[in-house]
Amino acid sequence: MDLNSPSAIRNIAAKHGFVFKKGLGQNFLTSGEALEHIADAAEIESGALEIGPGFGVLTSELAKRAEKVVAVEIDERLIPVLAETLMEYDNVKVINADVMKTDLAELIKNEFGGKSVSIAANLPYYITTPIITMLLESRIPVKNIVVMVQKEVAERISAEPGTKDYGALSVLCRYFTRPELICVVPAELFVPKPKVDSAVLRLRVLDKPSVSVSDEKLFFRTVKAAFSQRRKTLLNCLSANFPYGRTALSDALDSAGIDPRRRGETLSPEEFAALSERLRELPDGR
Ligand code: SAM
Repeated sequence: MDLNSPSAIRNIAAKHGFVFKKGLGQNFLTSGEALEHIADAAEIESGALEIGPGFGVLTSELAKRAEKVVAVEIDERLIPVLAETLMEYDNVKVINADVMKTDLAELIKNEFGGKSVSIAANLPYYITTPIITMLLESRIPVKNIVVMVQKEVAERISAEPGTKDYGALSVLCRYFTRPELICVVPAELFVPKPKVDSAVLRLRVLDKPSVSVSDEKLFFRTVKAAFSQRRKTLLNCLSANFPYGRTALSDALDSAGIDPRRRGETLSPEEFAALSERLRELPDGR
């Protein structure tokens, strides 16, 4: 079924009496070209997992390239629509669930025999960062994550240290993956039209994290603390978030080779790793 135009999307919505829910981030993509870019960028080997299939426009592109596609959709009103739009594909399974409450490790084990999958999604914007964080931190077997996100989120994720967009999400993504901007998608190509443009981002999951740390939780806690108050120095941010005196923190920064007056957004992932190693050596350092 060809749904690659605003009128086709509106027609199928009207046929099923479907009203878009802003609260679920329901801005559906109508560009065949952008959908092909996402599906190609996923470089699917055998299995693909989609988050939020909507009317199934991306799902069908994935189904053409994968042995099997599993699509997790929270909105039960979309299940009968998907049964119709994906009728011609026998390699697609739709699961009606909230992806944030789904055990994806179990799903990948049951549906794909535990083999590494590609994840593709036009993500609901209200929950982009929690979904990306969950996908990365849960350490599920994933090769590539290709997501459509708001353009400014894509810029934040791919930002270099020292730039205004660089933040905790950039460090998290660079720790687990190599982020690449695939293309920008203008707001006009969605129904309903969102306020801002979007971008497709590919996160190639690394075989091992980009920097080595002995305590991952402490590493992420250090990163979050460093970005907790952007205009403050690293020393101030750390002392507001860790139960240590300023002298101990200042010494830890010095011994990691980091000037305590610097700001979090100037630290590379390697420097965050060195800092979290020094914090770990402090008494009760976790
Ligand atoms: N894939 C379709 C497309 O590209 O046109 C729809 C994308 S739309 C931006 C986001 C989709 O995610 C919607 O279908 C929405 O119902 C679904 N969704 C929102 N929150 C979700 C959640 N927590 N778990 C699973 N799906 C969710």
